[in-house]
Amino acid sequence: MQKRKRKPTNSQPAADAVVEEEPCLRQTAPLQLRYYGDPVLRKKAEPVAEITDVELQLAEKMLITMYATGNGIGLAATQVGVLKRFLIVDISEVADEEYEPVMLFNPEILSAEGEAVAEEGCLSIPNVTADVKRPEKVVIEGINVESEQVRIEADGLLARALQHEIDHLNGVLFIDRLSGLKRQLLAGKLRQIQLAERPGGNR
Ligand SMILES: [Zn+2]
Repeated sequence: MQKRKRKPTNSQPAADAVVEEEPCLRQTAPLQLRYYGDPVLRKKAEPVAEITDVELQLAEKMLITMYATGNGIGLAATQVGVLKRFLIVDISEVADEEYEPVMLFNPEILSAEGEAVAEEGCLSIPNVTADVKRPEKVVIEGINVESEQVRIEADGLLARALQHEIDHLNGVLFIDRLSGLKRQLLAGKLRQIQLAERPGGNR
């Protein structure tokens, strides 16, 4: 998910901005984001059986990828083409209170209540925002990077971002939650994203 107030920044992570002579830096290059139209975004991600170094590296690379966008507050593994149930959310820059980044494997919504409408954007759907209705509060359970089962009671932006990322793990995009009419109004922009030429192709 994206910040509401976007900085004038290129949403494409600059994979080539890394100094090539430094192998240690090359390891932390951002991953390639997948964009609307890429079939991987419509696939359901698989639960993670065990958190190994591979998963921890994925977590680190996803954080780097999200921060490299300059406007990301959440990212699901699906958005970097990895079909594992894993998400990260960091709303600390846009929230009034202090928040630690959330990194969750196999997140599940245990309960949801209330209803709230707020604007959403998505790193995989650049330059498209819309008001989305979702439950206002959620209780979510998952496994953290220390392999501990954790429970998060969230409301406001944190609840919204977590639900947005869990949707990604089920192949659902925020535009799917809009009325047919609203989606029709975005059709032109969506088509442009699908047709955009990108390094690595659109798949
Ligand atoms: Zn998204």
